[in-house]
Amino acid sequence: MARVAVVGAGLGGLAAAARLAAQGHTVTVLEAAERIGGKLGRLSVDGHTFDTGPSLVTLPQVYRDLFAATGAPLEESLDLVPLDPAVHYRFSDGTHLTVPGEPGAVPGALDAALGDGAGAQWSALLTRAEQMWRISERPFLRTPLAGPATLARLARRPADVATIAPWQSLRGLGAAYLRHPSLRTLLDRYATYSGSDPRSAPAVLATVAWAEHAFGSWYVRGGLHRLAQAVAERAVERGAVLRTGCAVRRVVVAGGRAAGVELADGEVIDADVVVSNVDAAALYADLVPPPLAAAPLRSLARATPSLSGFALLLGLTGRTPGLAHHSVLFPADYDDEFDSVFGTGRHAGRPRPAVDPTVYVSAPDDSALRPDDDSESWFVLVNAPRHEPGRGVDWDRPGRAEEYADQVLRVMADRGLDVRDRVRRRVVRTPADLARDTGSVGGSIYGTSSNGARAAFLRPANASPVPGLFLVGGSAHPGGGLPLVTLSAEIVAGLVGPA
Ligand SMILES: Cc1cc2nc3c(=O)[nH]c(=O)nc-3n(C[C@H](O)[C@H](O)[C@H](O)COP(=O)(O)OP(=O)(O)OC[C@H]3O[C@@H](n4cnc5c(N)ncnc54)[C@H](O)[C@@H]3O)c2cc1C
Repeated sequence: MARVAVVGAGLGGLAAAARLAAQGHTVTVLEAAERIGGKLGRLSVDGHTFDTGPSLVTLPQVYRDLFAATGAPLEESLDLVPLDPAVHYRFSDGTHLTVPGEPGAVPGALDAALGDGAGAQWSALLTRAEQMWRISERPFLRTPLAGPATLARLARRPADVATIAPWQSLRGLGAAYLRHPSLRTLLDRYATYSGSDPRSAPAVLATVAWAEHAFGSWYVRGGLHRLAQAVAERAVERGAVLRTGCAVRRVVVAGGRAAGVELADGEVIDADVVVSNVDAAALYADLVPPPLAAAPLRSLARATPSLSGFALLLGLTGRTPGLAHHSVLFPADYDDEFDSVFGTGRHAGRPRPAVDPTVYVSAPDDSALRPDDDSESWFVLVNAPRHEPGRGVDWDRPGRAEEYADQVLRVMADRGLDVRDRVRRRVVRTPADLARDTGSVGGSIYGTSSNGARAAFLRPANASPVPGLFLVGGSAHPGGGLPLVTLSAEIVAGLVGPA
């Protein structure tokens, strides 16, 4: 039996704690904030309750596996509901597309909204994406990253390499399969699920579109933060101890291996294994002795950080007829948005908030989240550049956040969703808030982005160079987003092994 210190109670840390406690280890979770959940957070104001981070659950089997491996099935803890329709899109030419939750109905819906042939084009793309998924899921998503060895596992058969096409971008794949410009826009958006730019992210990200199509879009009744609570409860049931308000300031290394952690108040907690759920860039910059952190820091310096997000939490009076759970309002010039938030192309070296961004609205019809039945609680998100005062965007500049919030509301109004006279409560959350609240460097949502063919192999591995120190969470392999973060915990539990 090992003494395990888990640093951070984001979903990755909590899932690792539940698994390791169920494997018989003595687990203590140390969370800097007063509350658990990290990015999977919740905020309540004036009777309106908001998820402050994720709003879409995909790959439900990953959470079911977690609960089954640690005790009673997920359904005993959470009410996971499939969404139908899955999402509503509005394109810049005014076209509307409602994507059904039932996969078989999707081609017909595409034909009806975009014209004959759209359904067949999308289906052909998804067939290729499914082949990519079958090749890459186990050797990549469910296996510890081992640099070139992982690549070799993926590249065993030349036909598999041709299917994955590591040299091709997601944008390039879209150009090869999709003639309809709206379908290309739709595919591009999947790059943002990992905080990336479709022009440089690899074609294999099309698997995200396929997985969403095949396994569905889901919601957790009561809000997605319930997922963090349920995993925390599971970890405690299995014997883990959860301490909040405990910032770790250093990983203790003794005899060449991790030997515990030191808290900000000087308390030292001895451990045989340390599992870090801290943003990997912060872990290696601040918590690990510099000589041991040098190699991972070099890899991180070669990767592009993922984009951040600017969120508006809106408490609205009245109800919006016909509003889907998820709506996406696309701009006329998607590339200008990517250039703005990454500081590339037209905005090279000068990242800035996009003038005309894609707007994502999540409006769960859930009575637990609103004060009464004549109101709504909306989560509105746009892609945003990271918080980098001095070098990039300073989101703390007085007035900036409120000005940009007004602009986002104007953009929504221009695209047919004008709620300005219905707002009774508005909370603005910038990349700087995200950085402060969760310790993610610059407010990057997903650690490093998938920009570039080698990006996946620059992402920090789950086993660190320090024996006994492991990484879980969105900034480590296999990447960000709730399902991958949960898989990272499964990988780390496997690396640590049973008691
Ligand atoms: C606005 C937004 C929208 C998103 N939308 C989606 C979505 O729809 N679907 C989806 O699947 N994913 C989405 N994501 C991504 C998803 O939320 C993350 O990938 C996931 O929650 C990250 O989990 P994590 O395990 O990496 O930990 P994090 O949530 O990053 O938590 C890390 C924890 O470590 C703690 N910590 C940091 N430093 C220390 C320290 N020194 N000592 C102790 N504790 C420390 C932090 O306080 C924090 O609680 C979204 C994220 C955001 C921000």
